[in-house]
Amino acid sequence: MSTQSLSGKELAGDIRRRAREQSRDLGQGGVHPALAVVIATDDGSTHWYVRSIERAAEAAGIGCRVMDLGHDATEQALAGVLRGLAAEPSVHGIILQTPLPAGVRAEALVGLIPPEKDIDGANPLSLGRLAVGQPAFAPATARSVVEILGHYRIPVAGRRTVVVGRSAVVGKPLALLLLERDAAVTVCHSRSGPLERYTAEADIVVVAAGKTGLLNGSHVSASCVVIDVGTNVLADGSLVGDVDADSVRGVAAALSPVPGGVGSVTTALLLLHTVEAARRQSSSEPLPAGALHAQVLEAAG
Ligand code: NAP
Repeated sequence: MSTQSLSGKELAGDIRRRAREQSRDLGQGGVHPALAVVIATDDGSTHWYVRSIERAAEAAGIGCRVMDLGHDATEQALAGVLRGLAAEPSVHGIILQTPLPAGVRAEALVGLIPPEKDIDGANPLSLGRLAVGQPAFAPATARSVVEILGHYRIPVAGRRTVVVGRSAVVGKPLALLLLERDAAVTVCHSRSGPLERYTAEADIVVVAAGKTGLLNGSHVSASCVVIDVGTNVLADGSLVGDVDADSVRGVAAALSPVPGGVGSVTTALLLLHTVEAARRQSSSEPLPAGALHAQVLEAAG
């Protein structure tokens, strides 16, 4: 059978266009959306990722301030920068980029990003708000999965949906967004036992574990939609997901590629979140209703 490729490119382009148009409209009213990315690592792939956010922001007419504190930055220095950005009215969105220097407690720092500027849903308050349907930004990666499903008109309500991974940045918020859309959600992790026990009868499987080849064709049925969130860099520098794409292609109904799937939509959503944050901060509008936020694009489109 032929497996549909759920590319994120068209959707990402659409989201970037919306961000650009909304940013231009805000600019006409004197509001210039801007985000700040705080970074403290020498890791080359992280710098590459941050540069890609910078380029995308520039193309969308959104300001992007990168604050590189170096690989030996202290928690105190990072906290000082985050407090400054939190109080700075011209900065509407803040991202604290991982990895952080050894000994620096990310969980202590993300709490310094106010929810209204927390465009990547890193503050535990944002996750808590999502859990109870209160105003919050969802992590862009988690929202990206839901947007891809919406873009391809893949129904979620009442479907058996397996999320592999339970991190606070992907698996848990994604499970909350899917629950909000009435999916029957099962969350798997490193202690949940053989994956096929859960995935064999699933309608949708989302893999976000950071393990190359974790899911293969023998784990899924012919009607299954597979979304690959994983990003793993191989020794030869190539980027692959968590899914053994060659074995899933020809078995499952649909599969999102890596690269060109979830990741491309994620960066675009960070821009859209920045514009939404700027609009709400400039007009004192409340944040969008938490988990319902993921329905904004569909409603607008
Ligand atoms: P993480 O914090 O390391 O969490 C990984 C999760 O996978 C954990 O919950 C872990 O279970 C689970 N897991 C590990 N091995 C497993 C196995 N053999 N079977 C089932 N579950 C297993 O990673 P993360 O930050 O959530 O990221 C996950 C992946 O998504 C990574 O590849 C990351 O690079 C990628 N990612 C992509 C984007 C994007 O925009 N495309 C953004 C963020 C992350 P335990 O909880 O039991 O340890």
